[in-house]
Amino acid sequence: MSPLASSARRWLASRGDEMEACLRRLVEIDSNSRDKAGTDAVGAVLSGMLEADGIAVQRSPNAVYGDVLRAEVPGKTDGAPVLLLGHRDTVFPQGTVAGRGYSRDGDSAFGPGVADMKGGLVVSLFVLRALKAGGGADVPVVALFTADEEIGSPSGRAVIEAAAKGARAAFNTEPGRISGNVVTSRKGGLTLAISVEGRAAHSGVNHADGASAIGALAAKVVKLHGLTDYASGITTNVGVIRGGHAHNIVADHAEAELDIRVTSVDQIDALMTRIEAILAAEDGPGTRARFVKKAQFMPLEERHSAELFARYVQAAAVVGFSVEGEFTGGCADSGFTAALGVPSLCGLGPVGGRAHTDREFCRLDTLVPRAQALAITIADLASEPPAGPVTP
Ligand SMILES: [Zn+2]
Repeated sequence: MSPLASSARRWLASRGDEMEACLRRLVEIDSNSRDKAGTDAVGAVLSGMLEADGIAVQRSPNAVYGDVLRAEVPGKTDGAPVLLLGHRDTVFPQGTVAGRGYSRDGDSAFGPGVADMKGGLVVSLFVLRALKAGGGADVPVVALFTADEEIGSPSGRAVIEAAAKGARAAFNTEPGRISGNVVTSRKGGLTLAISVEGRAAHSGVNHADGASAIGALAAKVVKLHGLTDYASGITTNVGVIRGGHAHNIVADHAEAELDIRVTSVDQIDALMTRIEAILAAEDGPGTRARFVKKAQFMPLEERHSAELFARYVQAAAVVGFSVEGEFTGGCADSGFTAALGVPSLCGLGPVGGRAHTDREFCRLDTLVPRAQALAITIADLASEPPAGPVTP
């Protein structure tokens, strides 16, 4: 272990109560992705604590979503930086905290976003502080705290990709799995908003003059669902469907939302070609479909996480816990860094589960050990020459 890894581990050992107090503060702020004031308020708590320790924080102002914050612990050299990722937004609407704020039962904490991912923000914050207290790593350690991950990172993605170019590694403190594992691979995903236009007609008087948008959309849904292929990890799901005006009118419009998941980057283009063909086909004379991409997440593949995972397992053993890598169908910002060929590891926050529900929980007893393992991994990684990028 490098001297910095040892000192960071010691610095973190006694911070459990402080970490919990910080978690409570963050959870007690409503911060839905579309609540700029809320996500900015969470950012203000983070930057206040970082700046108090002499860690510089830059803000990229955003008119719609919360500002992106960039904190940096300078390195002893200006070698390729190590990147930490975290999102300040949650899926919960404004007012959730008033009804059910932070609470604790034994080693478990509850509240909106307590695991996904305010617990992870606390881990990143304290890792930065521990590295700073030890004099900094051999290379700069840069943390990005974004505010719109839960809606597909419309503003965060470009900032993350810009920072990832030339980075040594990216670590994302999304919640650790219930099993205690970290995330070594994730699906990528795409959401399409589909709309079909037809021609209205009275269904009794002049049925033949109509062109049913609902009929055309129904035919497309069957074909789109037919693209699911569990063996290769591809799934398609039309999760929302709307259309029409009344039972006696041939529907002149219909809409659907399609969710697509893939396990590797090279599946995306081929799948999109087939989807575009399905949507372009005239399913019913006089109908026409259009679509817009709503959000896209790239997959995290095991070849991108393998090197960092091996290091993390060693660091965890030093701290005193064992850990395995896990695959999840959920998407996250770590896919953007992996797709650029940057070694990436995810699920490094405290152990938690039932995210996006009112039973979400975070295991408080994992805050310190997870922070220690991450700090050791980063400190040791930064002290060694890079292994080189992974093929994107
Ligand atoms: Zn998350």
